[in-house]
Amino acid sequence: MHGPDATLDSDQNVSGGRWTPGDHILWRYRAHPAPGTAGAAGRPGGTHDGPRAPGGPADGHHSPNGHGGHDADAPREAGLLGRTVAVCRPVTVVRDDAETLAVWVAPDTECVRPVLADGTELHREPLATRYTKPHRPLRTRWFGAGVLKLARPGEPWSVWLFWEVDWTFRSFYVNLEAPRVRWAGGVDSEDHYLDLVVHPDRSWEWRDEDEFAAAQRAGLMSASRAAAVRDAGRRAVDAIGAWGPPFSAGWELWRPDPKWTVPLLPADWDRTPARLSS
Ligand code: MG
Repeated sequence: MHGPDATLDSDQNVSGGRWTPGDHILWRYRAHPAPGTAGAAGRPGGTHDGPRAPGGPADGHHSPNGHGGHDADAPREAGLLGRTVAVCRPVTVVRDDAETLAVWVAPDTECVRPVLADGTELHREPLATRYTKPHRPLRTRWFGAGVLKLARPGEPWSVWLFWEVDWTFRSFYVNLEAPRVRWAGGVDSEDHYLDLVVHPDRSWEWRDEDEFAAAQRAGLMSASRAAAVRDAGRRAVDAIGAWGPPFSAGWELWRPDPKWTVPLLPADWDRTPARLSS
């Protein structure tokens, strides 16, 4: 384990240590910059949000948000980490090496995700106002089966594995997001709304096109940012077609260590790494 908030490294250029399997870290997504600020598209709107599970957990409510900047592939650490934390998931490290960061979101983990200020679930709010009304964080338990998240350094997506509660493998989910920034307590990213679902037979489809469009209309993502995200998605489609790792790596057969405990959500789940605090 690492000391609290001591260092910050882009996962494209890891200079610090690595986590050990069994370590508890935070997998977080920052809010998108408010419209009108640098990096935003400059339209009216609120702050964050995120898509849903692929027909999955009613709450497991994935993703989150945010962004700013221009190149979807470039971690803009100061810009990213200066923003509000919209989603926080305490996870257990499965593997952390030069190729892959793998983490497990255990069933029933207490997590944070955004809801509207009045408590309305985002997926129940019409798209026209889903991203323009103010959001607030909600602490809530991860519902349903757990999720394994796999990320390769520098890649603008992470690949999630979903199973049924009886461990029948259901699908891969490619969550388009900013390359993760590592800090002492975990990794931070921003969700890019658009996703891909990959079925066990290797067929795939885009997901959450409607949310991707709504986020652009709400001014949370400029046209150039959106184009970069779509381009990243096309590269993910190429990776699916090539069927290399992580799809071919047998992760469907992976199971969590039964001795692991469910990680706890810390009181300061939204903390900013010390080095970036002003
Ligand atoms: Mg997503």
